[in-house]
Amino acid sequence: MFKFLGRNPFVLFYIVSGYILVFTLWWGYLLASKNEQAFSEKVELNRVAYEAQGNKMKYEDTDSYLKLFSKYERQKVMILGEGLFFLILQILGLLQVRSIFGKEIELAAQQRNFLHSITHELKSPLSSVKLSLETMLKRQLNPEQQGKLINNALGDVVRLESLVDNILFAAKIERDTHGFANEEVNLSDIVELVAAKFRDNKNGISIQTDVEEGIYYHTDQVGFTSVVMNLIENAIKYSRQDTAISVSLHQISGAIRLEVRDEGYGIPDTEKTKVFEKFYRIGSEDTRKTKGTGLGLFIVKRFVEIYKGKIELTDNSPAGSIFSLTFPG
Ligand code: ADP
Repeated sequence: MFKFLGRNPFVLFYIVSGYILVFTLWWGYLLASKNEQAFSEKVELNRVAYEAQGNKMKYEDTDSYLKLFSKYERQKVMILGEGLFFLILQILGLLQVRSIFGKEIELAAQQRNFLHSITHELKSPLSSVKLSLETMLKRQLNPEQQGKLINNALGDVVRLESLVDNILFAAKIERDTHGFANEEVNLSDIVELVAAKFRDNKNGISIQTDVEEGIYYHTDQVGFTSVVMNLIENAIKYSRQDTAISVSLHQISGAIRLEVRDEGYGIPDTEKTKVFEKFYRIGSEDTRKTKGTGLGLFIVKRFVEIYKGKIELTDNSPAGSIFSLTFPG
């Protein structure tokens, strides 16, 4: 009978909130009308006594009436003022509960998605490595076939390694923001190396670089490499075949600017801040079919924050996204 409550967890919340608000309004109204009733009854009683004493003046013009009236007015204002204050507090409280509740539900859904994608991402390369090893064990293969299988298995192991690295890095960046090195790092070399690593991608996406040589910066080498890898990997994952990605690194009046542009599916305005949240993945059909954990951009954003940098996400023209990271000089 109460199944509808389980389908939408907010239903019960709205029912209870509505009840609380209606109840408050009702009590406010009741209190105001009781105050009015008490006032009229007192006036009536006093008038009878007053007229019985043979007074000729209208009771409404006497001091006694004016005192009663001003007390009644004071109480009316008090009921209205306190009632309003209480109502506003209730509304603010309910809004806060609604927002915390919403965030919890969103986080729970994202964690479920994360568990689902991580299980899949761990299982498929493991099965593939297992299959390669079993094939090598069972069959007599020539060196060429063997080499191919070993290469496939190695590719899967590298994929697994980068997945585990990302998870460990996300845990570290969340737990310990002070644990990052502050060594002089050649950013230009890192960007070129990472771009080169992805040039031979399955999607036939070309990667162009425009990197100023010899840009050094005090940062964490592993962290910066992970940031560049995540941005380029995403640019490839969320693009159609045979499009292009451009990666640039420049020093502009002391500040360092890294930009990754793609011609991919793009990110709608409503999702532009959400994509940096932990475990968040856009639910559109285009991006859902790709593999991922929703940790990449979370890592990028946290890393940029740790080094007091800025991150901007804008639309590329005619399609795609531009991620621009600026680190202060
Ligand atoms: P993952 O790629 O593992 O899903 P990320 O945190 O790296 O996680 O990205 C979060 C989401 O943002 C992705 O699931 C995808 O929907 C979207 N996204 C990230 N980069 C891009 C991009 N370059 N183009 C389009 N969508 C992107």
